[in-house]
Amino acid sequence: MADFGKHKGIEAPTGPILHCKGWGQEAALRMLMNNLDARVGENPRERIVYGGRGRAARSWPAYDKIVESLLDLENDETLLIQSGKPVGIFKTQTHAPRVLIANANLVGKWATLEDFDRLEKKGLTMFGQMTAGSWIYIGSQGVIQGTFETLAALAAKHFGGTMRGKLYVSAGLGGMGAAQPLAAKMLDGVALIAEADGQRIQRRIDSGYLDVGYDSIEQAVNDALTATKESKSISLGVHCHANELLQYLSERHIIPDVLSDQTAAHDPLMGYIPDELSATDAQVLRHQDPTTYLQMARCSIAQHVRNLLILQKAGALTFDYGNNIRREAFDQGVTDAFEIPGYVPAYIRDLFNAGKGPFRWAVLSGQADEIYKLDALALEMFGDNPLLSRWFTLAQKYIHFQGLPARIAYMGLGERDRFALKVNEWVAQGVLSAPVVFGRDHHDTGSVASPYRETEAMQDGSDAIADWPILNALLNTASGAHWVSFHHGGGTGIGYALHAGAVVVADGSEDSAGRLSRVLFNDPGIGVIRHADAGYDLAQETLARHHERMRAPFVGPQTNIPID
Ligand code: NAD
Repeated sequence: MADFGKHKGIEAPTGPILHCKGWGQEAALRMLMNNLDARVGENPRERIVYGGRGRAARSWPAYDKIVESLLDLENDETLLIQSGKPVGIFKTQTHAPRVLIANANLVGKWATLEDFDRLEKKGLTMFGQMTAGSWIYIGSQGVIQGTFETLAALAAKHFGGTMRGKLYVSAGLGGMGAAQPLAAKMLDGVALIAEADGQRIQRRIDSGYLDVGYDSIEQAVNDALTATKESKSISLGVHCHANELLQYLSERHIIPDVLSDQTAAHDPLMGYIPDELSATDAQVLRHQDPTTYLQMARCSIAQHVRNLLILQKAGALTFDYGNNIRREAFDQGVTDAFEIPGYVPAYIRDLFNAGKGPFRWAVLSGQADEIYKLDALALEMFGDNPLLSRWFTLAQKYIHFQGLPARIAYMGLGERDRFALKVNEWVAQGVLSAPVVFGRDHHDTGSVASPYRETEAMQDGSDAIADWPILNALLNTASGAHWVSFHHGGGTGIGYALHAGAVVVADGSEDSAGRLSRVLFNDPGIGVIRHADAGYDLAQETLARHHERMRAPFVGPQTNIPID
């Protein structure tokens, strides 16, 4: 923290001038800096980007060395990052990745938060979340389409396709949680979100993710109920702990239509504020006495899930939103925590079966109008997809860019590479003034093993099988992504997830065209194979449609245990 001074005000360079020796290195440098831009990351002072303590670099000296290495890196070399610290540069080959990243990985028996904390304290590791340590975070927009898709699927299943006149209640207005109020509003509903840190409420109002902030629960609830009755679409944030809001609602028999949570409960030490503490006091105690802090946080989390269960039983449509809160509470004796369903099996697995996931791009020109040009291109190419065209229209209306202008779009197998190749042509022709970066969240179809989230309740029981994200990282390396990452613990926390990421740059060259075509097809392709192998019909149909470009020699479980 002491050496933050000279790093204050980090902003990625923009435009067509190279500072590195190639666009692969340059894009990695710009996206790393973008993650630590104060308009993008949650707490750049501590290099925290989002998701509890998801960091982009282990220390400021490590950050400086990464920057120096990228500036110097040749076009046939590869830089290795070990948990946010550069550790080696090797001669590889021109079509290889320029950067390979491994964050927070631990051997199974040591994959506990306690061991992670101990090793982090010794300066040996760093939590990279999903897109923080892999340098492809694009602000709250990065999750908003997923939240939008989830709530749209929920609305289609339960409310005839709209959230109009429905009240969505949740907690957490952090980097990802901030997507909740805007997504509910985009679907014409009312959102009421508890947030324990008043500064986060203001930040979300400033960035257009939230309409109004309150200090009084009573006032916030009254206004939310009035808006719901009048079928207004509006988002409200209230400065209180989740439990305070939920208890207030239960005591008055006010049952939300939809109920969830996006506090960073996957990391009770850094991501959850116990009921007895203010955000400021929490910041002090978690460093002074982490053991007491953890006890308090876990106790509040258990109560939090009990409160969710009470409202669920009273009729609120309740789902876990990927923060492992159920497991944390279960470990504290809340034995019915898993009565709350997870959002992936409940609402979005079919997207994964079609090879769809949180694909995104950022324009290195820094010019917002180039994102709008790409929106138009996407609409021209995929306008017959009603969900995608609805998304682009709403995104243009509601999304404020943070840092480098970017767009997320849940594109599927065969769509991502086709779109990126056209963009590469546009870069070559000068239609766009600088290259475009294509990447995705690790929370994608074939890149994650996370039994309480992306791979919860897999049809064949393969929830905890983690070969798939490793194969994904290896395949993307072989296919020539510009940078590839493999992390542990993102989303649901240490011990609960292994996941991989890949990023490719369209710089207008033939080399880029080859990389884009291979990576952006193969990457969702392995997701489709993973789901086809688990027995999902839709994934098998998707696979069959693309048989010229990938084959699945075996589909289905193959036992190696003698049966007789
Ligand atoms: P974050 O650390 O940026 O924000 C967490 C927020 O919760 C903070 O603003 C904090 O003040 C607030 N908070 C903590 N305890 C609280 C309490 N008791 N009451 C009210 N507010 C409280 O985290 P984030 O990036 O927003 O991620 C939130 C969670 O969602 C994480 O667990 C993350 O892993 C998960 N996540 C889910 C998805 C998804 O698609 N479902 C995607 C990414 C992350």
